[in-house]
Amino acid sequence: MQTPLVEMDGDEMTRVLWKLIKDSLIFPYVDLKSEYYDLGLPNRDKTGDQVTQMAADAAKKYGVAVKCATITPNAQRMEEYHLKEMYKSPNATIRATLDGTVFRTPIVIDSIHPVVKNWKKPITIARHAYGDLYKATELRVPGPGKAELRYTGADGTTFNKTVYDYECAGVLQAQYNKDSSIESFAHSCFKYAIASRQDLWFSAKDTISKQYDQTFKQIFQSIYEESYRKEFERLGLTYFYTLIDDAVARVIRSEGGFIWALKNYDGDVMSDMVSTAFGSLAMMTSVLVSPDGNYEYEAAHGTVTRHYYRYLKGEKTSTNPMATIFAWSGALRKRGEKDDLPDLRAFADRLEKACLDTLNAGVMTKDLASLAEGVAVTPVDSEEFIAAIKSRLDA
Ligand code: NAP
Ligand code: MG
Repeated sequence: MQTPLVEMDGDEMTRVLWKLIKDSLIFPYVDLKSEYYDLGLPNRDKTGDQVTQMAADAAKKYGVAVKCATITPNAQRMEEYHLKEMYKSPNATIRATLDGTVFRTPIVIDSIHPVVKNWKKPITIARHAYGDLYKATELRVPGPGKAELRYTGADGTTFNKTVYDYECAGVLQAQYNKDSSIESFAHSCFKYAIASRQDLWFSAKDTISKQYDQTFKQIFQSIYEESYRKEFERLGLTYFYTLIDDAVARVIRSEGGFIWALKNYDGDVMSDMVSTAFGSLAMMTSVLVSPDGNYEYEAAHGTVTRHYYRYLKGEKTSTNPMATIFAWSGALRKRGEKDDLPDLRAFADRLEKACLDTLNAGVMTKDLASLAEGVAVTPVDSEEFIAAIKSRLDA
């Protein structure tokens, strides 16, 4: 390796797996050059969360990061960890620094059949992780009265629109988004489609939302025409926009193998639907891609707290490390591409192959064992599973 990989350690069961993965599957094979940041909650608290910002800045500087799952503090965690503050989610800090789009892709294996039987290839969800419902302003309307939407420009010009003349109590909500964020979203999606050689679909509801969703549609279309159409055509790839209800029907009838870009709320809902239908959250990978080409790889699941509490009692757990291993292989491969290191790229491929061969031989953690069909299953704990991958990798 030439350039360091930014390594962000995390919490609970995934922190335990993190060390196991590094010791068994990375260190023996890779002369790892990494810049290590401990984003475990105790260290975030110790540094007043400075470490998260430093890690995010390093990801921007070096361009490739791999992150372990981390606890997002809530009231219960404040007590459990005696925190000084209720820190923001590390992922929110990293996203705010890199300004990216999150792409989630299931790891597909022969013995786990998607609920949708014609899905043959993974479906990648690209979620715009900015604004909309998540930053909406809401009001509980107490009774009769008029609700208005008002904009005051920096130069003093104003627009007013009546939202509704209430004859009774009700609810009210205002959402916003920014062209600059939608543009970044579009660039990330087109770039990722080209890098992964997949078609890109984008869906919203512009027939009903004639300003809001229409803006998303137009920005995607004009960025496509200006910057990506030629490259898409050269590679035989397709970009198309369709209404979200039409998209849902097409996705279900498809055989997979494309990227589905969605607005923030739609992406939240559809990514859980798609990952569940593919089989398991433990098999979902996630990468944050920034518009200027920085990549942060992680598993889509959390720190698997319930398993960790069992681990603390001395029990062996059968926690699935697949998505975390694929975060490592994805980051190493990307580092290999950026620095032109064929050996590193080849190692990433071999590591993934060893994982898939292990699963295809029926050796799997309990979450998958209960779903597998058409293979004689040997359920194993996390350590045994990683050891089985290692022996294949050695072979
Ligand atoms: P979770 O860690 O994803 O786990 C939820 C349940 O899903 C687990 O109890 C387990 O079910 C199953 N599961 C998830 N990953 C698994 C794996 N690798 N192997 C086997 N089973 C797996 O979600 P959570 O319990 O809601 O959240 C725990 C903590 O993670 C929270 O503090 C949250 O803030 C954090 N979190 C972090 C991220 C992130 O860093 N990106 C994302 C989400 C959540 P069973 O118990 O039934 O076996
Ligand atoms: Mg969700």
